[in-house]
Amino acid sequence: MKISLEGQVAIVTGASSGIGRAVAEAMGAAGAKVAVNYRSQPEAADEVVATITNAGGEAFAIKADVSDEAEIGALFAETVWRYGAIDIVVANAGMQKDSGAAEMTLDDWRKVIDVNLTGQFLCARAAIRQFRAQGRRDVSKALGKLICMSSVHEVIPWAGHVNYAASKGGVMLMMKTLAQEYAQEGIRVNAIAPGAIRTAINEQETQGEAAKALLKLIPYGRIGVAKDVANAAVWLASDLADYVVGTTITVDGGMTLYPEFRGNG
Ligand code: NAD
Repeated sequence: MKISLEGQVAIVTGASSGIGRAVAEAMGAAGAKVAVNYRSQPEAADEVVATITNAGGEAFAIKADVSDEAEIGALFAETVWRYGAIDIVVANAGMQKDSGAAEMTLDDWRKVIDVNLTGQFLCARAAIRQFRAQGRRDVSKALGKLICMSSVHEVIPWAGHVNYAASKGGVMLMMKTLAQEYAQEGIRVNAIAPGAIRTAINEQETQGEAAKALLKLIPYGRIGVAKDVANAAVWLASDLADYVVGTTITVDGGMTLYPEFRGNG
């Protein structure tokens, strides 16, 4: 069975690198027209657009800070102006500003919550408003699909990263609440929780000796790649996942299986 997003329009935030980039490229390859959102890397975003268009797809790059209400408004308006509608929104942009909780500045707490949680709320609200305004389209069974990029740290506490873990725990209940609120209108809201995926956000933890320590936490025995997450996102956005509502798809090589307990019995 071939997964197709033909005729659909997707916005992917934070799409100039890592997981967002892979999701944008995979959705483009599956036939969606893609708005490639970036905050600070225009050349990298142009490369993503080129990859999609060189393969016969359609895409454009657009700058927006997801924590800025007006910029999110402009991102959605420009996408609708270019492509006429929006069917899929992947709220992926995220960041870390790590330190012990006792040492954490209020600024670093707020920055991460602003981008990772409030940024996803602003995208979600804009998506729901747009799905309602445009009404049913014949390209998908759902009125619209929202995918929140969460993390295994929506459930695994993470010392030294209290702002990040709090933001992802918040994303989980935001996603479930939105799903409960809007499923009756035909809007499917779900999340993906990646485990350790090698990208810019965790360069230090996924190289050399640190990578060996990390592998002990991954029963499947390899660090993930962005494509692992992109494959899940394409499926989740497609009609093959039409009955999947309000859940987190964990893509983590088994990291959430408490591997420390192996052999302790
Ligand atoms: P990354 O650093 O490559 O990507 C994050 C992207 O978000 C970057 O392109 C960055 O420019 C963008 N971004 C940051 N702040 C922004 C803002 N204010 N407005 C718009 N864009 C902004 O890292 P990644 O691993 O690809 O992370 C993508 C998502 O996946 C994040 O939400 C992250 O929390 C989540 N995640 C990653 C992992 C992992 O192991 N890599 C694991 C779990 C969850």
